[in-house]
Amino acid sequence: MARSPVEAARLKAVAEAKKVHRALDIQQRVREADGQVDVFDAISELDIALVFKPLTSALGFCLPDPLRGIMVTTRRTLHIQRFTAAHELGHVILKHSPRIDTDTILARNPYSGGGTDIQEMQAEAFAAEFLLPRWLYIYHAAKQGWGSGHLRNPDVVYQLSLRMGASYKATCWGLSGHRILSQSEVNSLVKATVSKLKVAAEERFKPGHSHADVWKFTGRDTGARISGNPDDLLRFDLEEDSDAGYIWDLSDLDKAGYQILSDESEFSRDPLVYGEPSRRVVVARPPRAGTTNLALQERRPWAPGSSSGTLNLRLRLEGKEESGLSRGDLRRRGVPMQ
Ligand SMILES: [Zn+2]
Repeated sequence: MARSPVEAARLKAVAEAKKVHRALDIQQRVREADGQVDVFDAISELDIALVFKPLTSALGFCLPDPLRGIMVTTRRTLHIQRFTAAHELGHVILKHSPRIDTDTILARNPYSGGGTDIQEMQAEAFAAEFLLPRWLYIYHAAKQGWGSGHLRNPDVVYQLSLRMGASYKATCWGLSGHRILSQSEVNSLVKATVSKLKVAAEERFKPGHSHADVWKFTGRDTGARISGNPDDLLRFDLEEDSDAGYIWDLSDLDKAGYQILSDESEFSRDPLVYGEPSRRVVVARPPRAGTTNLALQERRPWAPGSSSGTLNLRLRLEGKEESGLSRGDLRRRGVPMQ
């Protein structure tokens, strides 16, 4: 079947995003640690200058060949900075004319192929494929044990969006764009409001800021590197085999200065499941912006060598990028960071 010129242009942008992924071995890197595509590092590795500035009317802009530069605002959240950078990277890779992008780039579904400006449509398609490729959904769903039934639940998709480093809406669009869910299922997902999803994730406590997020971690997150905000709220739901004498040792949270807001064990009152593991629910607030390596272990207090469950997490809660070079660039140049 003949493709329309618009569809052919969209597919070209998607193919270019895949090409960059292959060139930089992004899929392997995501599997090994990050859990999300680090677009700022990718731009740097492609030898494209990336600078953050407090732009007021624009989210970002790009300078194509031979200058090859990208500027992104510091006035928006990290998710928007990441999406803007990926959009501008698309313009540069596809050798588009110089342009300034505003909030309109956030409002369009990149899989719809709509709009009259082909270059804009291509940059949107590139950004969506670059940050939210199908394999990234599959990776997280497999790691978390989520099937399509789970992915119809907005609470689950919100947690998925945090792990992929994208907005809730963009994550929903990808679910239908990649044909993981039907359009009607995604239409009902996007009706959920993120503020209510945060309350549903943890009813008793709020994150420190309206833009901050609420993470729900389980043992399935072990090995993950998390990228979030310093005022995010962290909730740990951990199975605890207390009947066998196992208790989660959470001293790493204390040592790192986390404020424990709540620490409760929930036991089943159903006699049929008596003896099943209980659930330890801990809610914590990070002390400040920075990186923490947590190694939480479920063990018998009287037998230090005994370990049943483990939750290793690298929490990089630094929030949005500030003026100047990206944090990744600064680290590579040896600038001391927290
Ligand atoms: Zn654009």
